[in-house]
Amino acid sequence: MKKLTKEQYHILKEKGTEPPWSGKYVKFNKKGRYVCAACGNELFSSDTKFDSDCGWPSFYDAKKGAVQFKKDKSLFMNRTEVVCAKCGSHLGHIFDDGPKPTGKRFCINSLAMEFMA
Ligand SMILES: [Zn+2]
Repeated sequence: MKKLTKEQYHILKEKGTEPPWSGKYVKFNKKGRYVCAACGNELFSSDTKFDSDCGWPSFYDAKKGAVQFKKDKSLFMNRTEVVCAKCGSHLGHIFDDGPKPTGKRFCINSLAMEFMA
């Protein structure tokens, strides 16, 4: 387990959410990969990142086997949580309004990831 900041711990371990537009990867278009901030598991490629205008980094697909999905009924909503398949940390949520080819929108906290060029 890597050393996490208080903010990172809140998101990854307590299922927190960073304020929209606050994350460093929202407007970020460099080529590379995104890994789990807690364990280094490779999660997303910059090739699947898109500008969703929701305030969080968005991807239309994840690396095969990198994430798992859990039903989240908190806050009286019916959402699907995205967690790291390796360490179980909370990353964000997935929605069905993404672009082709998957139609999915992975809405992920910047603080839950680390970018590697
Ligand atoms: Zn992880």
